[in-house]
Amino acid sequence: MQRVKLLILGGSGEAANLSRALANDPRFDATASLAGVTEQPVSLPIPVRRGGFGGAEGLARYLIDNCIGLVIDATHPFAVGMKANAIEACERAHVRLLALRRPPWCPSDGDRWILVDDLDAAAEAIGNEPRRVFLTTGRKELAPFVHAPQHLYLVRSVDAPEPESLPPNAELIVARGPFAENDERQLLEAHRIEFVVTKNSGGTGSVAKLAAARKLGVPVIMVRRPALPNAESVETVETVEEALAWLDSHHAGASARLGV
Ligand code: NAP
Repeated sequence: MQRVKLLILGGSGEAANLSRALANDPRFDATASLAGVTEQPVSLPIPVRRGGFGGAEGLARYLIDNCIGLVIDATHPFAVGMKANAIEACERAHVRLLALRRPPWCPSDGDRWILVDDLDAAAEAIGNEPRRVFLTTGRKELAPFVHAPQHLYLVRSVDAPEPESLPPNAELIVARGPFAENDERQLLEAHRIEFVVTKNSGGTGSVAKLAAARKLGVPVIMVRRPALPNAESVETVETVEEALAWLDSHHAGASARLGV
C-alpha cells in the first residue's frame, strides 16, 4: 500500500492531537509544520519542520518538491496569513486541503463580555482609570498595553516575552494550559483582577478563565476572530475526530480509484 504524504500545518492543540492520532497509521506519512514561534513546542511523535515556507509560493513549492498529497490546516485560529497561504498554495500545487477550525467560544448566562476587533481596541476598552488586568493575548502582542501604562497587568504566556515588550506595571506568569477553573478563580481573586483580556481562540485548554470570570462577575474583553479570506472555498471540520473521518473517506476513495 502506498502511503499518502500528509502535511499538518500546526499551531493548535488540535494539530498536536491529530499528529498523535496519525503517528502509527500505516496509510499516512505525516509531517507537522510549526511557525517556530514557541520556544519549546509540545513534542510530537511525527517528523516536525519549523519556520515559514516563504509565502504561498514557497509552500506550493514545498508541496510539489515533497510529493505532499494532502494538507490539513490546523493553524491557530488567529493565524490568518498562514490560512490564506495554505488555500493559495494548495490551489497552485493541486493538493487537497482540509481546514480543521475549532469553534469560537460563545458567551453563556452571566458572562460580561466586551467584544472588540483587535488588541488596540482591547486596550482602549479597559478605559482611562487605572485597572488590574489579566492579559492572556500572547507574548508578541503586548504593544497596545505598553501604550496604556496606567493599568497593572498580570501577563500570562507560554514563553516569557522580551522584557522590553512588557508594559511598565506588569507581573509575569509563564505557564502552558490546560488550566483548571478553581486555579483560575484563585488567580483572579488573589490579583484582584478587574478585567480579563483574551483572544477568542476557542477550545478547552484556556477556557477555564472564562468560567472563573463568569463566577466572579469579572468582565472579559474578548477579541473577535479575524475574518478568513476565501474560508467558504475550503472543506472544513471542527474536531480531530471529524478530520480523521475525512481522512478515512479520502483514503477509501483513493484506494477504490486505484482498485486496491
Ligand atoms: P500568520 O500571520 O498566519 O503567520 C505568519 C507567518 O508565519 C506565515 O506567513 C508563515 O510564514 C509562518 N507560519 C505560520 N504558521 C506556520 C506553520 N504552521 N508552519 C510554517 N510556517 C508558519 O500568523 P502567526 O504570526 O503565526 O500568528 C498570528 C496569530 O496567531 C497571533 O495572534 C498569535 O498569537 C496566534 N498564534 C499563533 C501560533 C502559531 O503557532 N503560529 C500559536 C499560538 C497563537 P511564511 O509566509 O514564510 O510561510
